[in-house]
Amino acid sequence: MTITPRRVVLTRRTALQGAAALATLGFVPQLARAQAGAVSQPASTAPPAAAAKPVPKGTKLVMLGTRGGPGVDINRSETACALVADGVTYLLDCGYGTMRALVASGLGFQKVDTMFLTHLHDDHTADIAALLAHQWTGGKTAPTNIYGPYATAATVAGALQFFHANVEIRTIDEGRTVQPEALFFGHDLTVGAEPTRVFADERIVVTAVTNTHYPERAVARMAHRSFGYRFETATRTIAFSGDTAYSANVVKLARGADVFVCEIMDHGMYLDNVERAKVAAAAGNTESIARHVAETHSPPADVGRMASEAKVKTVVLNHQLRGPGTPGGAGFQISAFIDAVREKFAGEVIVGEDQLVI
Ligand SMILES: [Zn+2]
Ligand SMILES: [Zn+2]
Repeated sequence: MTITPRRVVLTRRTALQGAAALATLGFVPQLARAQAGAVSQPASTAPPAAAAKPVPKGTKLVMLGTRGGPGVDINRSETACALVADGVTYLLDCGYGTMRALVASGLGFQKVDTMFLTHLHDDHTADIAALLAHQWTGGKTAPTNIYGPYATAATVAGALQFFHANVEIRTIDEGRTVQPEALFFGHDLTVGAEPTRVFADERIVVTAVTNTHYPERAVARMAHRSFGYRFETATRTIAFSGDTAYSANVVKLARGADVFVCEIMDHGMYLDNVERAKVAAAAGNTESIARHVAETHSPPADVGRMASEAKVKTVVLNHQLRGPGTPGGAGFQISAFIDAVREKFAGEVIVGEDQLVI
């Protein structure tokens, strides 16, 4: 089933509509029901397997975490999206709050077999150890594969090391037999400026490029890279910028996509960081955090420019760095995003919210 994307989706109400759309696809939007005033139910009251519904067809994008940058606030999680193709979940990034968001969406975390990472900043990886540990403790037997840039395999190995004691205790005390090393696999991808196929199965083809989140001066000194991804299914194409400043590679990657999920930084915040970077540089610190923020993220004009050049139909704003003076994004006027993006892009603009289904 296909649901037509709505024009400029902004509100919690719309997120609830999105959750309802997932419900029609056979998912259980637990949080949405609780927010709507219905009785929240524990996971143990889920329908028995005998009542399993047919596999839902089609492709949905579920925004799990739309907060920009490292930090914790109550209403929005760190970065994560799920693409659900014919009922199968593919996770993109796994920032803090992803576990709760997966449960809230009704997708759950136990059936996440495939995950992609745009890059290894902590706001995109913080829940990896939690996810893998709970999959193992929850009795998962199907493998989980995690794909990402250089050091993804090491990150997964580190996650396994983190919950090694848990495995040791439960193996002795609960008779567990599955070894995490036989279940969880990290893969370092080699990707360049041209879209490169990095994954394919019967439902989805994934390509990737390097973007401009890491400046050249940093890339020259390390093996770490930052990616954008393009997911193609039988019915939709969804491209993800990852964290990035304007990127010609991302424009190539997103060409003609139905949906372009793009990071965004409020223009006021951009100007503020440019100024603070100047002050830091004058004081002798040329590699300030302010410079990083100003140079490696996308103010709205660049989001609009990339969306326009790629000729995408819809842009969904993600990894939102909201303006100064709005801690946690509360009170931020989203018209600041929409109006500025529309100066460059004539298509549909959707401001991502956690739990929004597109
Ligand atoms: Zn980030
Ligand atoms: Zn980042």
